[in-house]
Amino acid sequence: MSEYTRTLPPIRWPDAPKAAYDVLIVGGGGHGLSTAWHLAVRHGITNVAVLEADYIASGNTGRNTTIIRANYGLPEAIRFYQHSLELYQGLEAETGAAVLHQTKGILWMAHTEMAMRTERARCLMNSACGAT
Ligand SMILES: Cc1cc2nc3c(=O)[nH]c(=O)nc-3n(C[C@H](O)[C@H](O)[C@H](O)COP(=O)(O)OP(=O)(O)OC[C@H]3O[C@@H](n4cnc5c(N)ncnc54)[C@H](O)[C@@H]3O)c2cc1C
Repeated sequence: MSEYTRTLPPIRWPDAPKAAYDVLIVGGGGHGLSTAWHLAVRHGITNVAVLEADYIASGNTGRNTTIIRANYGLPEAIRFYQHSLELYQGLEAETGAAVLHQTKGILWMAHTEMAMRTERARCLMNSACGAT
């Protein structure tokens, strides 16, 4: 247990796991929790357990740079992440929880002529795909 987790308020866990669940999700990171949320609100599947080996979001989800963006380099990825971004923008209204999402600019540094060309191409691709 880390210094950080020692300061967290105690979480009220269920007294005992149930004998069976309809869905078992391994990993309480962003993907696992999002899957549990979507199963419940989109599909009505609520008999779900999320198994987490450490504390919730202890993996990549709790350590990343928290930029939610769609400016990737491939059309398929741009559309996929643009849709994710739009879902995230509506999350606060949908859940009633303060997710603290803010739209801001991002500054991308290119140090060489080659890098500039790559970023120009990315920029054009992003504009063509409607990434915001
Ligand atoms: C330094 C860094 C910066 C990043 N910056 C960004 C960014 O700015 N924007 C962005 O979109 N993405 C970013 N990413 C990527 C993003 O954080 C990950 O893609 C995302 O968090 C992955 O979520 P996940 O739920 O799949 O994995 P994780 O968040 O890693 O969750 C996996 C969970 O599974 C648990 N687990 C593992 N094995 C077991 C087991 N056997 N039993 C039970 N539990 C288990 C782990 O403890 C962990 O909590 C960054 C990643 C890193 C590392």
